[in-house]
Amino acid sequence: MRVVLILFTIISSMLNAQVNDEKEKATVLRMREEEKMARDVYLAMNDKWDHQVFSHISESEIYHMSLMKIWVDKFNLDDPVTRNDDKRGVFTDQSLRNLYNELTASGLQTREDAFRAGAKLEEVDILDLKAALAETSNADLQSTYRYLIHASENHLRAFVRNLEALGKDYKPVVMSQKEFDEIINEQGRGMGNRTGCCMKSGERN
Ligand code: ZN
Ligand code: ZN
Repeated sequence: MRVVLILFTIISSMLNAQVNDEKEKATVLRMREEEKMARDVYLAMNDKWDHQVFSHISESEIYHMSLMKIWVDKFNLDDPVTRNDDKRGVFTDQSLRNLYNELTASGLQTREDAFRAGAKLEEVDILDLKAALAETSNADLQSTYRYLIHASENHLRAFVRNLEALGKDYKPVVMSQKEFDEIINEQGRGMGNRTGCCMKSGERN
């Protein structure tokens, strides 16, 4: 009886570890494509508005994609971006495809709408990254997610600043007002520049 119980405990903890592993891998794939979605939205905005906030942030999203690619390779996963020949606007994940369509449709209306779409995208990204961070116990993967959260917070602040420069207010559409206020008041932990409207060139986020 005791042996059976021990065996049962071992097997169920193995199964749990496996389930966690599978979740962690699915999240890596999702975040890899989510960073691509961000890049694709900002490239579309930059084509339309030719504004440095979009060109700078799209560069930073390319870097984020490469960080997630390291994990796709580490876990030996089939990369959804490579599978789709890295075509702009093409996604394996249906929810990311929907978000891309929604954000590009709204962001191509006016420059203000484009900043709003960018801010919404970063809100979504921050919440997804925080969920991803909470889900994994892999310290290296956690530090990748922490870095991406920090960068996305800088991006969110950049879009809010650009709206302020137009005399417009931004209310969070996905996250709570409290969480949003904390990010806005944080001033980029020394890395952001609240006075300027955009990131300095060469600044990597
Ligand atoms: Zn990013
Ligand atoms: Zn971003």
